[in-house]
Amino acid sequence: MLVMDRHKYEQELLRVRQQVQRALDEKSVVETALRDADRRKDEFVATIAHELRNPLAPIQAAARLFGLQNFSDPRLAWSSRVLGRQARQLARLVDDLLDISRVAEGKLEIKIEHVNLTLVLRQASDVSRGMLQKAGHRLIVDLPDHALFVDADPGRLIQIVENLLTNAAKYTPPGGKISLSLIRDELTATIAVRDSGIGIAEADLPSIFGIFTQLPSGASRSQGGLGIGLSLVRALTERHGGEVGVTSEGANKGSEFTVRLPLSPVQTANPDTAADGPAKRSRPHRVLIVDDNEDAALSLATLLDIDGHEARTVPNGTKALETISDLWPDVVVIDISLPDMSGYDLARLSRKTVGMADMLLIALTGRSQADDRRAALDAGFQHFLTKPVNYEALLGLLL
Ligand code: ADP
Repeated sequence: MLVMDRHKYEQELLRVRQQVQRALDEKSVVETALRDADRRKDEFVATIAHELRNPLAPIQAAARLFGLQNFSDPRLAWSSRVLGRQARQLARLVDDLLDISRVAEGKLEIKIEHVNLTLVLRQASDVSRGMLQKAGHRLIVDLPDHALFVDADPGRLIQIVENLLTNAAKYTPPGGKISLSLIRDELTATIAVRDSGIGIAEADLPSIFGIFTQLPSGASRSQGGLGIGLSLVRALTERHGGEVGVTSEGANKGSEFTVRLPLSPVQTANPDTAADGPAKRSRPHRVLIVDDNEDAALSLATLLDIDGHEARTVPNGTKALETISDLWPDVVVIDISLPDMSGYDLARLSRKTVGMADMLLIALTGRSQADDRRAALDAGFQHFLTKPVNYEALLGLLL
């Protein structure tokens, strides 16, 4: 009797074990499928961001050119303002998209410098003040009257603050009060952006920094957006060793977003970076632009011509080599993916042209991974710019 029971018991145990194993196998199949879908989504976001970047470069350059004209027809003046504003907005969205795909791939780059956070926040508030005023808001900036040093990427810090201020403006009805403040604890600096807007329900607070999170309450106020701004703020802050926070007393009671960053152990200015002299204007250069995207090349050349440089464009590497010995450019801007040869090969061949060893070579590309930078430097480029080219950044290289 006892033997029978034992046999039954073992069979039952085997059956349960097999069931558990089947459930575990099914779970792992589902997990693999989910991971695959997630990876494909990341790849899709990265592809979209890159594809959108290319047409944006000439659109931004054309908008800039358009904005330099004096129109007597008010409709044209209005069109020019709309074009400039919308191109900037589109560029910001695409940049955010690109950054978020780099976060997903673990390839987000930051360039750490010893910076005065008080000064960086002053710059960020100056950048956003016009946008806030246009939306009918009052901006109150409360910064310490002394320097607070952090070891961080100043461009990324401005991106964090701009993102929070833009959200504050978007999710606050016109006539709101928005404040930007900075306070110091013992070892940290806390940036706070507070608004008097639509607020956030308590239940939504924990998920608000998640990617693609958009609350229904924000929908009617939103002037576009992809639901990635806050997740980027969090990723950038964490890359700096900091943490984000949010509080709100509920609907229509405003919100406060905080970014806590570790203070630098050195609270004095770095002598190399302390003096930011006035921007120098460059002497005229002969610039050759090698890019098969005709619109991008021509718009860049036109902007350079307006700024007093002599710019010529060619669509491929062969034409570039012919033109170099004809024009003797002192700057060559090369798109990395050319139809007849790679930009890297063209850089190597250009440098070998007699008398051309000293020219400034600038790589231009839609891709911006560390490997691409390294390959560009190995090929003899001195600088590496990503598309759409930031015209001011390019001018900064032509001193
Ligand atoms: P987006 O603004 O593009 O939708 P974000 O990631 O910047 O994406 O913000 C996610 C969501 O968080 C928004 O859609 C909005 O619902 C909510 N949100 C962000 N900032 C605020 C704010 N200052 N006040 C109220 N809600 C906000």
